Amino acid sequence: MAERPTSGSAGDALRALLAISQPAREGLTPGERYGLTAREVMHLFGAQGASLHWRVPGTAGPVLLASEGILASEGGPASGQAQVLPGESVPGPDEAILVPVPLGDARWSAAMGVAADQRGLRTLLLLPLGHGSQPLGRLTLGWTTPLTPEQAPDRALARLVADHVTLALMQARALADATGLAADRLRQLEEASQSLSSALAELRQADRLKGDFLSAVSHEFRTPLTTILGFSEFLDEGVAGPLSPEQRRFVGHITQAGLHLSSLVDDLLDYARMEAGHFQVELRAVEVSAIAADVVASLETQAAASGLRLLLAHEEGLPPVAADARRLRQVLMNLISNALKFTRPGGEVLVRILPAQHARAVRFEVVDTGIGIDPVHHPFIFRKFYRVTGGAHAPVQGTGLGLAITRELVSVQGGAIGFESTPGRGSTFWFELLVAAGE
Ligand code: ADP
Repeated sequence: MAERPTSGSAGDALRALLAISQPAREGLTPGERYGLTAREVMHLFGAQGASLHWRVPGTAGPVLLASEGILASEGGPASGQAQVLPGESVPGPDEAILVPVPLGDARWSAAMGVAADQRGLRTLLLLPLGHGSQPLGRLTLGWTTPLTPEQAPDRALARLVADHVTLALMQARALADATGLAADRLRQLEEASQSLSSALAELRQADRLKGDFLSAVSHEFRTPLTTILGFSEFLDEGVAGPLSPEQRRFVGHITQAGLHLSSLVDDLLDYARMEAGHFQVELRAVEVSAIAADVVASLETQAAASGLRLLLAHEEGLPPVAADARRLRQVLMNLISNALKFTRPGGEVLVRILPAQHARAVRFEVVDTGIGIDPVHHPFIFRKFYRVTGGAHAPVQGTGLGLAITRELVSVQGGAIGFESTPGRGSTFWFELLVAAGE
């Protein structure tokens, strides 16, 4: 009986099967893996050529994944690029067939037979890959000697090998698809993050421009405002001659409007500084009661004019706090002004200063009996430009910047700020500043 050309030992077969089925080896591209599979099968069956074809969705026929030995194609699939050989794009057989060369097989492509003949092959074995009537691909083995069916590879072993190759190819393709998908996602993420960064850069630039614009405009306002206020003061003092009561009233209006505008400009400048992160404070040990008394005194006239009582209560012997006196004054001014603004005539605003409960800090409270704030607005009250509109708040002037600036001022002085408020009953805005070091 004629010898089979295979090396034939069970150990060889096992080794080849293991090599084929091994999960994607580290560092191997799918193309290298296909090549390795074709080589293993070729050596196992003592063939001189081997090729692997696979149906790829979207292509006309089976695509060449790998070709080895005499069947190797130029530029070969070792490059990982699948390609169709001339005469190979026809569907493969549904069952394993042995094709003598150059006769070919009527059920299959004569063109392939011719190609094999030109390469010096005498026998081809065509093994369908996959199951069922629709093969997924084809494994082709070629020998330079004519083989009888008895000399051809054992059918059961060939079937087993074909099954392993099918699994290995399916796995490799799934891996390639998954890797491609992951790479696509990564690319999309990178693109998204790039456009986000450039949007962010544009936003920052716009923000810088806005800050520059605000501070430039605010400075521009200052000069004419100083003139307006200065000359109305001269008029009020009678520098240009005595004023009639009506003239004095008019001058009073001019002064009030000028002061209002001046505080708006201050807020805008502070806002621009805050946006640019340039709120600078110089922390020193500051005596709180004197400052509070000063601020309260400066607002007494306004309170009286609005029919409000403005009171100050502070404990004796409070320690100095670490603060910037000018900015502490501003915080108190903002909170007390708000309290006066949002309290109806006949009401009361009480400023309390006491030791904080939980930290080595001093607590300032501005308690009013005003209109209060509805709880729906509580989370937003310190936001820039946030104002409660409608209802009792409707006619009150403001920009919505005061509390945002106040919070920032407290924070840059290392303190904390908060409030409690009940609609119709009043609000308590508080802040705490740390006791100065060494006190
Ligand atoms: P502005 O007073 O310029 O509107 P603020 O930032 O100082 O801006 O205040 C934001 C909003 O918070 C105010 O419009 C007002 O609705 C509300 N608010 C602040 N203080 C009080 C208060 N003491 N009582 C009631 N509402 C207040």
